[in-house]
Amino acid sequence: MKYSPIQNFIDGGFVPATSGRSMTVVSPLDGSLLSTVPLSDADALESAVAAARKAFPAWSRTPIKERVQVFFRYKTLLEKHLDELSTLVMEENGKTYDEAKAEMEKCIELTEFATSLPQLVTGEVLEVSRGVECRTEHVPLGVVASIVPFNFPSMVPHWSIPNALALGNCMILKPSEKVPLSSGRIAELLKEAGLPDGVFNVVHGDTSIVEAICDHPHIEAVSFVGSTRVARIVYQRATANYKRCLALGGAKNHLMVMPDALPDMTAQNVAASMSGCAGQRCMAASAMVAVGEVDHIVQRIVEEAKKIVPGQNLGAVINKESKERIERYITEAEAQGAKVLLDGRNAVVAGKEEGTYVGPTVIDGVRPDMAVATEEIFGPVISIMRTKTVDEALKIENANPYGNAASVFTQNGGVARYVMERASAGMVGVNVGVPVPREPFSFGGWNESKFGVGDITGKSSIAFWTKLKKTTIKWNPEAGVNWMS
Ligand code: NAD
Repeated sequence: MKYSPIQNFIDGGFVPATSGRSMTVVSPLDGSLLSTVPLSDADALESAVAAARKAFPAWSRTPIKERVQVFFRYKTLLEKHLDELSTLVMEENGKTYDEAKAEMEKCIELTEFATSLPQLVTGEVLEVSRGVECRTEHVPLGVVASIVPFNFPSMVPHWSIPNALALGNCMILKPSEKVPLSSGRIAELLKEAGLPDGVFNVVHGDTSIVEAICDHPHIEAVSFVGSTRVARIVYQRATANYKRCLALGGAKNHLMVMPDALPDMTAQNVAASMSGCAGQRCMAASAMVAVGEVDHIVQRIVEEAKKIVPGQNLGAVINKESKERIERYITEAEAQGAKVLLDGRNAVVAGKEEGTYVGPTVIDGVRPDMAVATEEIFGPVISIMRTKTVDEALKIENANPYGNAASVFTQNGGVARYVMERASAGMVGVNVGVPVPREPFSFGGWNESKFGVGDITGKSSIAFWTKLKKTTIKWNPEAGVNWMS
């Protein structure tokens, strides 16, 4: 076992879980044993919440300009340990080193944004009548929780950690039990950056710990990122317990390719979008609607996809079940009459036979009612549907229940504008394969890709992680007696 058994991080230190339940952590790259992760019980959550509640009064009263100093130092530590942190992400998730490094660079950008919060979080003040002023300020909520998925072991936690903490909250992070290693280093580096004990805690576990978070009377807000099935469960349970909740779910992102799209640029973007992080991105292109005569572009996509090689510039999918599920989708589409132009089934990487790889897969002739057209596959697979008009393409895009991302590839500004206005997705791209908004713009889908109000990152996160206090002040005796008295 490469790393010692993982422990929870509570009140500034690592503590063993007492539940007696644990799981092995295996690298998808080669099947090697990395560590074990405890599946904690409610006692561990109790200790973490107690530590966070104890830390909250002092942390929330620390001026925000002081709080963000921790994140200036933390950003420097992320830069200093970039290689080590990227390697950890690569090992536990199975993505390539370059992808893991890009993930860590995004963590740095998210931390940078948090250091700018003092500039953005100022309240308002107005003399509402003679000698009387009203002011508003953003007040932290208290103890909050963040529940995260396997596909970005460090980036998705950084969607919530820097902003929630810089805004004065104390947090319990529940990492994915499939990728629990990075969170320990995040906790250590935050401590090294000067974060007081108890402000950030990590409790590992599975379903039961998520349920305990949703039920806990002293947790004020829950952010969740994961599949739509679980997002629904968490949103319903947390809000039924009167908590604030933002739950991001799965996706089925459509790229609409017009005949006038630039062939090389489009093909490179489509191939990169479908296969980046082995297709395990909630922003990955999973369906392509080819409008009109675009055979020449489809052919270029296949050529580009052939350059993506498992074990070289394509990482592994998370586990054996995932590999089997993805391959089942391809087999089923083929049996239903779709044409597999490039087949990634049965990929094996020499010397890493226990790794779980799927090669890039391009499926043409997909009908909109097939499972590969409607369901989230979460693998390096693109399903191509054909339409005659852009309206038919939009009809397919609009009919899918998700709404994370949609993109159009065209050189025609009018067509681009037409699609931008009509796509039913929270994040829309024009000639962009993965239209993730950069900071300070916020990240968040629509429809069944997100339950709750607002977005998780950027300026929008301020509304989620704080409550507004409205104060009316009268110092001036001349203000007299009026309806506000
Ligand atoms: P998942 O829903 O299986 O797990 C997410 C978290 O929920 C994990 O921490 C897990 O321990 C917990 N969990 C799992 N089952 C549970 C249950 N029944 N009750 C309570 N908690 C439970 O998701 P995953 O497989 O880890 O991640 C992949 C999914 O996440 C994909 O659907 C992907 O699209 C989605 N995702 C979405 C976004 C977004 O921004 N919308 C970003 C990243 C990933």
